Amino acid sequence: MTIQFDRIALIGIGLIGSSLAHDIKRLGLAKEVVIASRSADTLKRAEELQLGDRYTTSSAEAVKDADLVIVSVPVGASGSVAKEISGSLKPGAIVTDVGSTKASVIAQMQPHMPDHVHFIPGHPLAGTEKSGPDAGFPGLFEGRWCIFTPLADTDEAALAALSRFWEALGSKIDVMDPEHHDKVLAIVSHLPHLIAFNIVGTADDLGTVTQSEVIKYSASGFRDFTRLAASDPTMWRDVCLHNKDAILEMLARFSEDLAYLQRAIRWGEGDKIFDLFTRTRAIRRSIIEAGQDVDAPDFGRPHTLDKKS
Ligand code: NAP
Repeated sequence: MTIQFDRIALIGIGLIGSSLAHDIKRLGLAKEVVIASRSADTLKRAEELQLGDRYTTSSAEAVKDADLVIVSVPVGASGSVAKEISGSLKPGAIVTDVGSTKASVIAQMQPHMPDHVHFIPGHPLAGTEKSGPDAGFPGLFEGRWCIFTPLADTDEAALAALSRFWEALGSKIDVMDPEHHDKVLAIVSHLPHLIAFNIVGTADDLGTVTQSEVIKYSASGFRDFTRLAASDPTMWRDVCLHNKDAILEMLARFSEDLAYLQRAIRWGEGDKIFDLFTRTRAIRRSIIEAGQDVDAPDFGRPHTLDKKS
């Protein structure tokens, strides 16, 4: 049977919060949804989009009597939100988050969590480069992983209830410790974003020499980086600052491997270059076989003749 909470409080109503709101309504996962956002403008937009039943700029007000509280704010704001809601949480409530880093979120939130609630940190591996309440859409979490990093004394029944909630959204659940999560995400998500921010920044710095060419010929590889590089600056600043150690470790590895490739090019070592590119091509195939992407060429973008048909 699908799970249903009496009241869910969504703290933060950007891309992730609003996608949750769409699905909670569509799937009937709560009798009532209360939405909090710090700015009146965002809250007004959430109301226009009819994302919830009640709206407030006070997170403390929103969590009153909520059985499930989902915090979807930039990771650097987790501590201040936890502090604000701590005195208003209902005994037995499940408090979770969706933040892209986990050790830092736990360090910020756990000290404010009263003993009578179940705090279960989480991270859905789903998103886009858009932000704000208009960016959300139903089905964002379908077929994607949601990772929990529960604390040692986490109540099994609360973890099971939260798992059923995410499963109802179509997610697959994994459980790991926060440090492991942060290392894995540093390589699969944080480093690729940093490379994209950096390469687009470099092209921009080349300025007047290449400006028109950069835009004109962008389809040849550069364009795929610009999608990642268009991601929300606040969210990604916070990810960098709050997963510092794992990101620096992965950046060091990346720099070493780039130097190896650079050397192979300098010395004309074609075999080394070919072997690397063969290995990386196989990884793309594994991702498709694992159902994490479709096998359409050019990420399924329509080409001239497709557009006409
Ligand atoms: P978003 O679209 O930018 O929305 C952020 C929300 O947090 C807004 O409601 C905003 O409120 C609020 N907020 C911003 N700064 C705040 C502060 N200092 N104090 C309190 N509230 C604040 O962000 P998002 O993409 O939904 O990301 C939310 C969380 O999900 C982040 O922790 C991120 O790491 C994680 N996440 C993101 C993705 C992704 O692809 N985007 C994927 C997985 C997980 P106002 O608009 O009212 O200021």
